[in-house]
Amino acid sequence: MKELPYKLRAKIVAKRSEYLFERLHTHLLEHDVDARLSGDRLFVDLPAVSGTLRLMDGGIEVQIAAADLESLYFAKVWLQDAVAEERASGTIRIVWSEDCLQRHLPPSFSVLTVDDIVDITPRMRRIRFRTADARSFETLDDMHLRILFNFQKLADEHASRGSRLGSSPLDLSPIWRAYTVRFVEPENHIIAVDFVLHSAEGPGSRWAAGARRGDVVGAAGPSGGGCGDAAWYLLAGDETALPAISRILESLDERATATVVIEVGSPTDTIAFTSPAAVETRWLYREDHDGDCRGLARTIASMELPDASRKRFVWMASESKTAKAVRATLRDRGFTKEEQSVAAYWHAT
Ligand SMILES: Cc1cc2nc3c(=O)[nH]c(=O)nc-3n(C[C@H](O)[C@H](O)[C@H](O)COP(=O)(O)OP(=O)(O)OC[C@H]3O[C@@H](n4cnc5c(N)ncnc54)[C@H](O)[C@@H]3O)c2cc1C
Repeated sequence: MKELPYKLRAKIVAKRSEYLFERLHTHLLEHDVDARLSGDRLFVDLPAVSGTLRLMDGGIEVQIAAADLESLYFAKVWLQDAVAEERASGTIRIVWSEDCLQRHLPPSFSVLTVDDIVDITPRMRRIRFRTADARSFETLDDMHLRILFNFQKLADEHASRGSRLGSSPLDLSPIWRAYTVRFVEPENHIIAVDFVLHSAEGPGSRWAAGARRGDVVGAAGPSGGGCGDAAWYLLAGDETALPAISRILESLDERATATVVIEVGSPTDTIAFTSPAAVETRWLYREDHDGDCRGLARTIASMELPDASRKRFVWMASESKTAKAVRATLRDRGFTKEEQSVAAYWHAT
């Protein structure tokens, strides 16, 4: 395990510990986390977080170390969410023996208040939020934020106990999801997020569908990286990638060229892009192939891509299986890690 300054240590007490160990391994792989299995141990090594899970009698020993408190907080949230998903398979308890967090909110926490709501397509809702610190979200190197959807419930629960927000653990677990900052108006203290209103009913999509002016959510960030610098770009993804692709296109140099390939449900889900660069856009519709979302991966696999003599970059985000297939295509075509950012933005269940 890497030597990182901020640490957590816990034991997950579970009767079916072997089953839980396997499930946590699968969970990590599904979230694109490269987890290495060696005997009774699982090792995770990310740039800002490293961790070990050790299978033992009656449970799993967990050690997590992080470069900063924000990364440690979200590693802890990840573990709690993954364990909570397995509760149906028996009684499971996490007992923390070392926890240097001493807080129940991330260091970058802020509150967002709904200012304005506009539907930009039948399935995409733009919500402008008022925030005290819009300027901190302006960076293109970190285009993302996390939204805490049950913030109001957590605040109410703290109020009913007379405790300060974030000062103590609650019965309710925080519900965080990742989104993209579509644009920032620092002078108006506004950030905008485009929410896909998907039909599978998650807390994020449900919240956006019912949002009203004045509603509040929590936020953490910015985080998550941006796009590389190149002369030729392939920007690809599904609806969830549209906010990031729009933002990247607006930021490109006028000498750059970009090919944009996006898969959406039907022609009513398309949007217009603006960019100083020369852009060629291709829309794919799931309704044309019975709702199958692998058309995107197949299209990219059949595309002619420039060779490494050209400064090239592929930015792509989509459902996890499609992202995995695109990574394989890029590996076969000799794209290096520095020439790509391919992310799993959601997981089909
Ligand atoms: C860095 C990053 C940036 C992102 N930016 C955006 C963004 O700007 N806008 C945006 O809308 N999303 C964005 N996403 C994707 C978003 O976080 C996921 O779609 C998330 O799962 C939505 O949470 P939920 O609570 O609605 O659904 P969850 O509770 O996570 O899932 C509930 C069910 O919904 C299904 N589901 C989840 N997302 C979708 C979807 N898009 N289409 C169909 N079914 C789905 C799941 O398979 C599951 O069955 C981003 C993700 C990442 C990692």
